[in-house]
Amino acid sequence: MLIDTHCHVHFNAFKDDMDDVVRRCLSEGVQMVTIGTQKDTSKNGVALAEKYDGVWATVGLHPSHIFAGYHDEGEVQFKSRNETFDPAYYGELLKHPKVVAVGEMGLDYHYTYEGVSMEEMKTKEAAAFEAGARLAIAHDLPVVIHCRDAHHDQAALIEKIWGPVRADEPPRGVIHCFTGTRAEAERYLGLGFYLAFGGTITYPPRKSDVKAGKELLTDVVKWAPLDRIVIETDAPYLTPVPHRGERNTPLFVRHVADKIAELRGIPFGDVAEATTANARRLFRKMAA
Ligand SMILES: [Zn+2]
Ligand SMILES: [Zn+2]
Repeated sequence: MLIDTHCHVHFNAFKDDMDDVVRRCLSEGVQMVTIGTQKDTSKNGVALAEKYDGVWATVGLHPSHIFAGYHDEGEVQFKSRNETFDPAYYGELLKHPKVVAVGEMGLDYHYTYEGVSMEEMKTKEAAAFEAGARLAIAHDLPVVIHCRDAHHDQAALIEKIWGPVRADEPPRGVIHCFTGTRAEAERYLGLGFYLAFGGTITYPPRKSDVKAGKELLTDVVKWAPLDRIVIETDAPYLTPVPHRGERNTPLFVRHVADKIAELRGIPFGDVAEATTANARRLFRKMAA
């Protein structure tokens, strides 16, 4: 059994066959957490989770939806919403027993938005993240963090909001689709966070990085503590090898687990068992 800890199986990309996809995953032993990114996708994710055992949801505001005019590079087709985080709205949704975390939310400095200065963008993203984090803390829930090109600021913001780590407190969230360095991973782990690996770990590294002897993502995957990693697809995006070019689905999370097993030289079953146990420990409400 595997748990895809981050997918968007309730998004438009699945509007014609969502129930078929979910049933097929569940029948093949793949459970999933379907992730909200703004008000509508958060609400729809909860509705899907309610329908199926083995499907859970999160609710939250993705940094790109804080702004209007999301710059679409052609890989992701969604319209940004110019939304302000509404604690009352999300606070109501997360009372549902199938809502296991707040997010995805976080800092994304990769994209820019017309008419929005870098400074304004950073300030607004940090404010939305903090509002989401406060809500999660108030409801004793973990957070799902989306961070791109902003690990330093993201970790500092986590430290500011949560304060010093307490040994008696369980980890407070996960860095989804982690693609950072080992030093960045160490900082998050030290703060009590889990790392989620996705399809990106199956992509071939840049030849220039290999040539230069640079640290690769696969090195981080080999090194990361097995009791602190989870797996994900981010479906419909980031399709893993060998399905590049197809729509991603939670079924393909097996290729992520396969890659981890291959890199670490351990059986697939060990990766499945560890990542499933980790997901349940991270998302405590799953056990309820
Ligand atoms: Zn994301
Ligand atoms: Zn996502």
